[in-house]
Amino acid sequence: MEIFEEDKEIKQLMLRISRKEITLCETCDTFFDYVPQKTTCDECKKARRREYEQRPEVKERNRKRKREYEQRPEVKEQIRKRKRKYRQRPEVKERNRKRKQTPEYKAQQREYQREYYNRPEVKERRRKQRREKRQRPEVKERERKRKQSPEYKEQQRKYRQRPEVKERRRKRQRERYHRKKKLREEE
Ligand SMILES: [Zn+2]
Repeated sequence: MEIFEEDKEIKQLMLRISRKEITLCETCDTFFDYVPQKTTCDECKKARRREYEQRPEVKERNRKRKREYEQRPEVKEQIRKRKRKYRQRPEVKERNRKRKQTPEYKAQQREYQREYYNRPEVKERRRKQRREKRQRPEVKERERKRKQSPEYKEQQRKYRQRPEVKERRRKRQRERYHRKKKLREEE
């Protein structure tokens, strides 16, 4: 009886296959609704796709495509906007605010800044900026006035009185004296 039932079922399936109602999957034993050219079920197709995308050369190609895609100006702009929007979400803002207060973050920032300001091109740029700033008429004028102020003069006087500054000055004088003396002796 059971064998008979099974037989009947198989016959029924064969019939449906021949009528192009269903298809038997190529890689597993499921039937799926007939679609022209389709030989595998959705699950197997997905699995095959996943397997394919795990191949190193495919992964690399996909990464490259993604990079190229993200370099397009309109895409870049879109990404920027999305990131900005994300950062403005209250929970994200709060999380960032907290993160910025951690000692690790602060240490990391300090380290980064030190590294940044020590780069030769940055040093040179900053030197140039300072030089240019000093050359600006209004800055020059401000500086001239500052140097004439009693506060500045007092400050300078105090500076010159500092032991290490005094010592440096004496040392320079001694050196100058010895240089001159030597020059005279050589004559
Ligand atoms: Zn399948």
